[in-house]
Amino acid sequence: MCKVIAVSCSKGGVGKTTSAVNIGIGLAYSGKKVLLLDVDGQGDLSKSLGVENPESLDYTIARAMIAVANGEEADPREGIMTHMEGVDFLPANSKLSVLDKDLGSIPGSDTVLKDLVDCLKPDYDYIILDSKPAHVALSVNVLAASDYVLIPVLSEYLPCTDIEQTVLNVRLIQRRLNKDLKIGGIFFTMVDDRTLLSREVEKQIKEAYIGNVKIFDTKIPRSVRVAESSALGESIYRHDPHGKAAEAYKALTKEVLSYGQ
Ligand code: ATP
Ligand code: MG
Repeated sequence: MCKVIAVSCSKGGVGKTTSAVNIGIGLAYSGKKVLLLDVDGQGDLSKSLGVENPESLDYTIARAMIAVANGEEADPREGIMTHMEGVDFLPANSKLSVLDKDLGSIPGSDTVLKDLVDCLKPDYDYIILDSKPAHVALSVNVLAASDYVLIPVLSEYLPCTDIEQTVLNVRLIQRRLNKDLKIGGIFFTMVDDRTLLSREVEKQIKEAYIGNVKIFDTKIPRSVRVAESSALGESIYRHDPHGKAAEAYKALTKEVLSYGQ
């Protein structure tokens, strides 16, 4: 059965998009059929998968969501693109930000994305959603559509109010919209074990959440190779297959594969 996983955190720049791409492609390398959804009007996921100018695209996730919301006959698969490393993806551009503003004023709009995801589930083992940092109508849609939430955390940043906020959002959506939503876990990104701050942040987060929210064993190291791979439109496995970041994302993918088993 298809598992829907959101990579979500209310803080920006923590590695959500990078992790969605590398977990998604990691799952595809493990033989799974994977769809990545770009649920951010910045189109960063689309760019990380090689779309040079998302603004030039006619058919994006916004159009698919509008079609589903209006009950149009259009095939929601129409805009799906395929990346050279074996994942499918539905791209986004600024039209999604426009839709985001409109969604707030439409009754019942919280589950438009869920309706789209439900149409696409039969074709995939995993659907991974890359979301925006802000608290907007789309973030509610993302959590309403998902089975699991993965929360990337920068290990260089205190206080941890963003994790708290993200966990509270999940709890709220669990109560109101999606009782099956689970926190898949917190994982540390851009880790530099050599810094005292990094170790201190990890210690505090573990103390605050252990026994309550899963904290992944795997930590993603800071590596310039990761940033390079996004700019080149490829995964870390292709760009630097033997590097530490590729090993870490492989291990994280394995942890994700164990969900529900
Ligand atoms: P936003 O909130 O804007 O959507 P985000 O949470 O999706 O941001 P990313 O875009 O994935 O974060 O990452 C932010 C920046 O950090 C990008 O330039 C990315 O290339 C870089 N980055 C991500 N992971 C790593 C890493 N492990 N090592 C070094 N740089 C990284
Ligand atoms: Mg992003």
